[in-house]
Amino acid sequence: VPSVKAAEHYVIATDTTFAPFEFQDSSGNYVGIDMDLLAAIAEAEGFTYEIKPLGFAAAVQALESDQVDGAIAGMTITDARKASFDFSDNYYESGLQFAVAADSKITDLEGLRGKKIAVKTGTAGADLANKLKDDYNFTVVTFKDSANMYEDVLTGNSDATIEDAPVIAYAIKNGNLRLKLIGEKLETSQTGFAVKKGKNAELLAAFNRGLASLKSSGKYQSILDKYIGEDA
Ligand code: GLN
Repeated sequence: VPSVKAAEHYVIATDTTFAPFEFQDSSGNYVGIDMDLLAAIAEAEGFTYEIKPLGFAAAVQALESDQVDGAIAGMTITDARKASFDFSDNYYESGLQFAVAADSKITDLEGLRGKKIAVKTGTAGADLANKLKDDYNFTVVTFKDSANMYEDVLTGNSDATIEDAPVIAYAIKNGNLRLKLIGEKLETSQTGFAVKKGKNAELLAAFNRGLASLKSSGKYQSILDKYIGEDA
């Protein structure tokens, strides 16, 4: 009997909406930098997968508790997370930045002293707001997803939010989000695909191999250009 190895099938968790990394197009398909990279890598490496758009904190938690094989969610590679996860090579250089309502008079971090800051649970932005909290006398309020976090600033309940700068920039430009970025980009960070530490090494290796080949073929750059264009 010839042994025919079935293609591996993986379950991959992601955020609900985190454009330009993952979001639904008008037909309800998940698209974006993460989704297109994963699709191209899976095709090149010969594996299949299904996407579970759980939300960021839930995706991280599902990976930690072995309910999914991997997570791709514009996820920042941090030393703290490396204790629980193995990360792929960096595929996007990002950074955190505060944003306020488009008509706000606040222009920089100093202007945020004593203010209320909306953050998304479990994110690098939430960590940074909590780190600055005592020095700047912030009140930090948490949300499960970016949409509700932005909404809290738009309604004036929160004074500002902090999140990955390219995500806010994309929503301002393409989603008509009435916020503006203020101050400087606060931390530059790398973005990676994650598996649980010590597990799914084959999947991680396939991701890295596929990513490297997409980089050399130019496909990686064309995916970035498709979503971010000149600012990529
Ligand atoms: N890059 C941020 C992090 O990893 C936010 C990710 C997200 O909200 N999907 O914490």
